[in-house]
Amino acid sequence: AAKQNGRNSYRFFDPAMKDAAAKVLQIYHGLAEALGKNQFSLVFQAKFGGLHNHFIGAEALIRWTHPEMGELSPLEFIATAEQTGQIAQISEWVIGEVCRQMKVWTALGLPPFKVAINLSPEQLRQDRYAERVADIIRKAGIEPQWIMFEVTETVAMREPALAGEVIRQFEQAGFDIALDDFGTGYSSMAYLRQFRVKELKIDRLFISALDGDGEEGEAIVSAIIALAHSLHMTVVAEGVETVSQLKKLKDMGCDQVQGFLLGKPLSPDKFEAFLRRRTNEEASIEKASQ
Ligand code: C2E
Ligand code: MG
Ligand code: MG
Ligand code: MG
Repeated sequence: AAKQNGRNSYRFFDPAMKDAAAKVLQIYHGLAEALGKNQFSLVFQAKFGGLHNHFIGAEALIRWTHPEMGELSPLEFIATAEQTGQIAQISEWVIGEVCRQMKVWTALGLPPFKVAINLSPEQLRQDRYAERVADIIRKAGIEPQWIMFEVTETVAMREPALAGEVIRQFEQAGFDIALDDFGTGYSSMAYLRQFRVKELKIDRLFISALDGDGEEGEAIVSAIIALAHSLHMTVVAEGVETVSQLKKLKDMGCDQVQGFLLGKPLSPDKFEAFLRRRTNEEASIEKASQ
């Protein structure tokens, strides 16, 4: 059959494609036992704000250590988990694990801070999702004010009525919502006004464009910042990697920044060490300014 299909058929035997297909299959099968075998973990990436980049809070990001493939990014398995329906259980694990970790940090005497959890689009479709999430968090003994949820813009815009309703339910339960990856989806100003979320995260794509020649990059980012501010939203820049990006963002009035420049996603242990250094530094700055 391969021969008959002629030129086009070689694609089906491309080793790279075969590897990719094999990897998807491996992910598909591996997901079934990943939870039971404790293969998931969380890393935490800090968010900073203000003139002196003080620590504001963190975002939890899932990792999967596959027995053969090693550490996998959520970009490699979340979509599959959504298709198989396993995302519901995985998300519940993430929420539970964030709460557990927060309690560990509190017990160690660290001051409380807000943690953001990424929500999968698929879950917005679940009946009374916000209520169930609120229930898990309440039972874990964490106040809703310490948790916020990030929803990607693409999803929110694809089903605006549904997204609007779910966002409203989350807010009613006391959780702030951030619109993640802003600028990459089919944004609509009308929906933005309707959603009224607390926070808008500018996608990394626009932040890296700040380093390019010309002023287009800056024009777009400052327009997004102005738009968000006019709707009373907090603006966060994602994926800040250079000092020049950071400086431009501050000049443009961006409220918060997140990125490898100021802090990579860290394991809970390393994040704890970072928090301790930070707490000491901030205490000494405060002391010095008294
Ligand atoms: P996101 O929520 O937009 O998270 C930001 C991603 O950018 C993370 O990738 C982070 O590691 C990466 N990043 C942060 N700063 C920089 C930087 O300065 N430069 C570069 N190049 N990258 C940076 P990660 O952890 O691979 O996550 C990818 C996406 O997977 C996330 O994008 C989020 O949409 C999704 N995700 C992560 N954790 C979860 C989860 O627990 N549940 C669900 N449903 N989705 C998750
Ligand atoms: Mg996010
Ligand atoms: Mg993002
Ligand atoms: Mg992203």
